[in-house]
Amino acid sequence: MEFNVFEYFKGYQRTTEGPRTPGEQGTSFFLGGHMGPRISEHIDAAAAKAGMSRRSFLGSASALPATMLAVNAITGMRFFDVTPAEAYEPAAAKEIKVARKPGQDFIVDAHTHICTRKDGYIPGVNTTERGMWFVQLLDDLGKAMGLPNGTKDMTVENFGKLILEGSDTSVAIFNPFGFREDYGGKDMIPIEEQAEVKRRWPTRTVMLGGGLTPNQGLSETLERMTMFVEKYQISGLKLYTFDSTKKRGWWFDDQKQAYPMWEKARKLGLKNIGCHKGIPFGQFMARYAHPEDLDAVCDDFPDLNFIAYHSAWPYQHELAALKGFKPQRKNLYAEVGSTFAATVSNRPLECAHVLGTLLRDLGTDYVMWGTDSALWGNPQWQIDAFRKFRIPDQLVEGHGYPQLTDEVKAKVFGLNAARIWNLKTTASTAPSEPRRAVAV
Ligand SMILES: [Zn+2]
Repeated sequence: MEFNVFEYFKGYQRTTEGPRTPGEQGTSFFLGGHMGPRISEHIDAAAAKAGMSRRSFLGSASALPATMLAVNAITGMRFFDVTPAEAYEPAAAKEIKVARKPGQDFIVDAHTHICTRKDGYIPGVNTTERGMWFVQLLDDLGKAMGLPNGTKDMTVENFGKLILEGSDTSVAIFNPFGFREDYGGKDMIPIEEQAEVKRRWPTRTVMLGGGLTPNQGLSETLERMTMFVEKYQISGLKLYTFDSTKKRGWWFDDQKQAYPMWEKARKLGLKNIGCHKGIPFGQFMARYAHPEDLDAVCDDFPDLNFIAYHSAWPYQHELAALKGFKPQRKNLYAEVGSTFAATVSNRPLECAHVLGTLLRDLGTDYVMWGTDSALWGNPQWQIDAFRKFRIPDQLVEGHGYPQLTDEVKAKVFGLNAARIWNLKTTASTAPSEPRRAVAV
């Protein structure tokens, strides 16, 4: 991901100690947005009602519910299903959170990363100026999200601590960054380093290959893809159509350059091909972040699934049109990493429109949960926010959006991803027992 937090969230600061809880992490993010000052007044009132200091209130289970209640009040729309009891009584909030937890939801985070490599990123030595833009952006994001050392904290160790142990995530799918022209001829995150995540948590992670662009030479690209499968047993691909070569990008529907890649993927048994779409960050060209190249490729490779990461936001309408007008299509997916986090906290109306558009046009079976963590630190506040998020009735009526029911949320949270990644979800009959997941 790839979103300049300090640009969009003016009140957000780099932290040296970091928030005390994921709830506080999410709350501070809401507070840094343009509604921040007004949310802050509500927080003060809620803290007073609870008979607590602001600081202790922010560390309590009520902080995030109080923030969500404030957003409902400020916007005059019910974006969050949250009760005053949760917002004003930390004990009640804790109880509701526990009752709602442990894992009635099977949660697959389809979009996670580590972002560190042993060599580091040294400007002028192994990283170009353009390459540093991206590193800097991720570093800023991490520092704002409770990782005091930015990218240096986006390690294998912290991947486990933040995502697998520190949140309700059942399975994390992790994906690489390439762009080796900008990083001394080596992928920004080399596959041999990220394979460590898979080795450490084999049943709770799924590893994707990446860093492939045919502009580096088609045969080399095909060889690397084969090597990723044979040596590292990757389960799919996550690619970028903008790249750091002189050509600056390529398209999935390029019959000469890209189709041989999909034919090779098919032969290697790779069924799920993801692509960063939307969020045209840093040094990369926005035109390649548009999703229209998924149109032809979806038709020409109906046995492969194509996943638009970030839901192509802010071009989500272009993506949605590829299915809205072609409802017969069964292999086009969207994933909401970074898009949900950035909009839910600062532009809830936009968040509702993005989710509503995707769910209506792509269909409720084709939208997948993702958080882009560990770039966003611990993903738990995003999970809590999605559990409570709703599409206000006016939008459901006026745009024909589906309601965000618990059933739809369960599909988005994990069932859709489980279907295409062959993850086994053993739903327990007792609702208080977590659903266990096994990645295969
Ligand atoms: Zn990402």
